[in-house]
Amino acid sequence: MGNTYQRVLLKLSGEALMGSLPYGIDPAVVQQVAEEIADVARQGIQIAVVVGGGNIFRGVKGASAGMDRATADYIGMIATVMNAMTLQDCLERSGIPTRVQSAIPMQQVAEPYIRRRAIRHLEKGRVVIFGAGSGNPFFTTDTTAALRAAEIDAEVILKATKVDGVYDSDPKINPDAKRFQTLTYSHVLAHDLGVMDSTAIALCKDNNLPILVFNLSVPNNIRRALTGESIGTLVGGSCEVS
Ligand code: UDP
Repeated sequence: MGNTYQRVLLKLSGEALMGSLPYGIDPAVVQQVAEEIADVARQGIQIAVVVGGGNIFRGVKGASAGMDRATADYIGMIATVMNAMTLQDCLERSGIPTRVQSAIPMQQVAEPYIRRRAIRHLEKGRVVIFGAGSGNPFFTTDTTAALRAAEIDAEVILKATKVDGVYDSDPKINPDAKRFQTLTYSHVLAHDLGVMDSTAIALCKDNNLPILVFNLSVPNNIRRALTGESIGTLVGGSCEVS
């Protein structure tokens, strides 16, 4: 089957890199994710990645412990750069040229975020990892994913999660829970479905950017999602359960 998309943005949370560890980065898990990204890149799909930092530091948590919120958020953004560099290292060991662009300039370790340069890298077949979130406190890396996807004209955001998609009720409690195949942005916002934070969803809605929520822990799911197999839940259409 051919590829459905040419340019995509993958959102990886920090937790996705943590595996079963309580904190930090599990190198084996990052390697596994990198191999899946490499596989997709080798098929000629342009892929950009936004990485989170929740496996290391979350601004909200720091603020609840009494820290200044903006300071805590900057620490969270710097944490994402560690994840970005780790993923870059794994991708390059898999033979895929990769660039990290940081929204907070740190020229010794990453390029600064330059939109046109990011697009050029993608056109040349390089994976681009966006680190340091949006560079602004009070935002999340989900919102960054929506922003960068719009900026680079990605066709879809692949939102990696630990579940198979969005359900009409909790599948752990209700055995009859049904997975939505598609959902509208308005439904996600109105029912606070927790696909991404509301700022991110609103940005996707305004820019008509579809979001595919899928389970990263199922092997080869990134590839499946990109060849149009019906996995996960696509936010951006009408509301349909499977
Ligand atoms: N962050 C921020 N601005 C951004 C992106 C992230 O301030 O544009 C901070 C925020 O403190 C957040 C932390 O970086 O808690 C880590 O990002 P996030 O929680 O989105 O990571 P994830 O949940 O995806 O692992």
